[in-house]
Amino acid sequence: MILPIEPYGSPVLREPTEPVEALTPEIEALIADMIETMHNASGVGLAAPQVGRSERLFIVDLSPMAEDMRDDEGRLPTFALGPLVFINPQLVEADEGTLCDFEEGCLSIPDLRESVSRPDRIRMTYRDETFAEREIEARGYLARVLQHEYDHLEGVLFIDHLSALRRRLLQRRLRSIARGEAEADYPLAPARSTAA
Ligand code: ZN
Repeated sequence: MILPIEPYGSPVLREPTEPVEALTPEIEALIADMIETMHNASGVGLAAPQVGRSERLFIVDLSPMAEDMRDDEGRLPTFALGPLVFINPQLVEADEGTLCDFEEGCLSIPDLRESVSRPDRIRMTYRDETFAEREIEARGYLARVLQHEYDHLEGVLFIDHLSALRRRLLQRRLRSIARGEAEADYPLAPARSTAA
């Protein structure tokens, strides 16, 4: 089932998330719906708060860019083969010595892309779609997407990483999204902002 995506201004995007206690049928259904919702919106990542939920989980799918990720022997990395599920993730290491800039967007903030500085190498622990404990060391584009989605679970949006000046310049656009004036080629939830 395709779920409506919460737009910027929705309070749920700023609320803390709750750890998932067990892999129940409800959680499995949520994950399946989130994957369908992300694919429908041509996104590479989606976090539970973006569909109005408080579970500490997100999904990513880098398979649309898999061809750019072949290694020297022409093999595709396993993470690029299909959707990955991250339940109760913890960012255990982010190498601040590897900061780099890259343009980001967000399904909750339609038609806005900005360059964001983040560490290029990270390490994250999490549980996968079978609830097995895992650890991943990521760099490059995968590290970037993981940090963007992880931020969502902490109530943080990519625009929070921009300079105060840059955010001021974007304020009019952000207010219009919060008022429900954004258009996207995927379903958006009604604006629920109290601050707009
Ligand atoms: Zn996002």
